[in-house]
Amino acid sequence: MDTNAKIFVAGHRGMVGSAIVRRLEKAGYGNLLVRDRSELDLADQASVFTFLESERPDYVFLAAARVGGIHANNTARGDFIYQNLIIEANVIHGAHRAGIDRLLFLGSSCIYPRECPQPIREDYLLTGPLEKTNEPYAIAKIAGIKMCESYNAQFGTGYVSVMPTNLYGPNDNYDLASSHVLPALIRKAHEAKKRGERQLVVWGSGMPMREFLYVDDMADACVHVMQSGIREGLFNVGTGRDITIRELAETVMDVVGFDGEIVFDTSKPDGTPRKLLDVSRMKERGWTARTGLRHGIALAYADFLDRFEKQA
Ligand code: GDP
Repeated sequence: MDTNAKIFVAGHRGMVGSAIVRRLEKAGYGNLLVRDRSELDLADQASVFTFLESERPDYVFLAAARVGGIHANNTARGDFIYQNLIIEANVIHGAHRAGIDRLLFLGSSCIYPRECPQPIREDYLLTGPLEKTNEPYAIAKIAGIKMCESYNAQFGTGYVSVMPTNLYGPNDNYDLASSHVLPALIRKAHEAKKRGERQLVVWGSGMPMREFLYVDDMADACVHVMQSGIREGLFNVGTGRDITIRELAETVMDVVGFDGEIVFDTSKPDGTPRKLLDVSRMKERGWTARTGLRHGIALAYADFLDRFEKQA
């Protein structure tokens, strides 16, 4: 990837897109193309086609998506399937129409069957039923992967998919109704500490296991894949290590400095019991995660404080 290459990052305001932009800028890429939602609605087919045909970027990072935690996925089911399908259909097909040769599509580890052997290898895709709480989102992401695969097969494009595990870091969503577990626990622990409360409410049983990757590591993996000239396939991106939600809550409490008691709200769903990614495919291509969980949580908490204090 030449440093003068024109690179479109779709979703640059989001946690992953903004991390990709930071990573590309750091590596000296100066010809980045971004558009706010008010300038380009990715759900609008005609606008996306016109934009891609007139700009003709050399590379597309497709990090735009409707995302959220277990509650948002489980309740806004129609929005999650529709908005993700339409963004993928418009951007991937639009890229092909405009003659764009290289595209990186971001999926999610929830595309894999609920009862998968662990750690999860890329070839377990479509070998069993999905977890129900995020099935609409997963179906949309699987469609994106299959679009990339099918376009490569029919048209010779170089469209690659990466499947991140649970991500966290700067620009995360801290809204408790729609966030993922890690930002939710950071906010809850911080607010409990501030208000002098004694309890931290954790959804579910605390038993599910999750793997967490710092978003700057994810961005690094995305750029690595593009720079390596890989033209097809599916790549898991994670740390290869997971912990229980209870252990996560304890670590967050420690970083935030909140010394209270954990209370489990079992009226909330646990979701999938475990989804640890097998990351050997990326390792073989020379990439591994760098940021340790505790350090990453400290960085995320610093970003939360920064934004939280600014809003206050
Ligand atoms: P998932 O990985 O798709 O299941 O999404 P989440 O990150 O939202 O949830 C992961 C796990 O953390 C689930 O078992 C949740 O029930 C649990 N969890 C515990 N407390 C919270 C919380 O405050 N918010 C969220 N989103 N999840 C929580």
